Amino acid sequence: EQDPIRVLITGAAGNIGYAIAPMIARGMMLGPDQPMILHLLDIEPTSRSLEALKMELQDSAFPLLKGVIATTNVVEACKDVNIAIMIGGYPRMAGMERKDVMSKNVVIYKAQASALENYASEDCKVLVVANPANTNALILKEFAPSIPEENITCLTRLDHNRALAQLADKLSVPVSSVKNVIVWGNHSSTQYPDSNHVTVSTQAGDRPIKELVTDQNWLKNEFIAEVQQRGAAVLRARRQSSALSAASAACDHIRDWFLGTPKGTWVSMGVCSDGSYGIPPGLVYSFPVICEKGSWKIVQGLSIDEFSREKMDDSARELAEEKDLAYSCLNA
Ligand code: NDP
Repeated sequence: EQDPIRVLITGAAGNIGYAIAPMIARGMMLGPDQPMILHLLDIEPTSRSLEALKMELQDSAFPLLKGVIATTNVVEACKDVNIAIMIGGYPRMAGMERKDVMSKNVVIYKAQASALENYASEDCKVLVVANPANTNALILKEFAPSIPEENITCLTRLDHNRALAQLADKLSVPVSSVKNVIVWGNHSSTQYPDSNHVTVSTQAGDRPIKELVTDQNWLKNEFIAEVQQRGAAVLRARRQSSALSAASAACDHIRDWFLGTPKGTWVSMGVCSDGSYGIPPGLVYSFPVICEKGSWKIVQGLSIDEFSREKMDDSARELAEEKDLAYSCLNA
């Protein structure tokens, strides 16, 4: 049997934590043969729910789950972890401005970066879920300099999956027949879900989406708005933000990163820009990537029309502003 992989979940006592822990323990993230030890971290006021989650995980008798550490101690939580899923973060409460949430979260991410830097396994792979996800990842990268920068990513897979789902719904086809949508940019309302390169598998082979969706205006308007506003729609319906779909997307992100993307298929991941597609290097930006043997590569050479260019640049501009804001919070 393979050695267990240590997986850290921060904010584990929250909504997404409750949904993702059993998915991981069932093997949906690392495959059906890979045992794991879960490290659950949350803050002191939630310690009883954290303990309860540990009890429920034990009571589920998952064959792959070799241990559970539930703790409110960051150092203990980070010790020797191979994967870190960073869900914990200060929520945006009524009346708070973006800057207020930002200042709380960059401080948390700076501290957690140091703990990962000092105690995590040196090849630790990090996925940031908590918002502002791209900027939290950027701060983590800056304050954990010994973790290779390609190991620090943020979640835009939920937006990607939502986009696939909208297209499948429009065409009344199974979601599994739609591929290669792209979510560019920030995990925020400036994200750009790009359908230009999407293909749909049909009995006559793969066909470009533009041949199948006759209403091009729908692709430029409703589709984009629907994906951007889907989180808010779930929030209104559930009176809580999406948790099951966010957890599932986080599993998809890590699974594809570890086990590889299917041939001919790319996915969206927030990664450190190398300047591809004219996006300023250093920003954590969502790109189309293919993964193989634990590493990702940005898909190169896609044509970008004027409409896309503008939307991609808008999101990059917002991320540059967030970066400045984050640093001014840290220096305040
Ligand atoms: P959730 O588990 O629902 O959400 C956690 C984070 O994920 C939030 O930042 C949230 O951002 C983000 N998120 C939620 N939905 C999505 C989505 N659909 N796509 C992308 N990102 C998403 O929140 P809970 O309040 O249930 O849990 C948070 C946990 O974090 C709590 O247990 C709390 O104790 C812990 N926490 C830890 C801190 C620390 O580590 N120091 C500090 C504060 C809290 P958004 O709010 O924008 O939806």
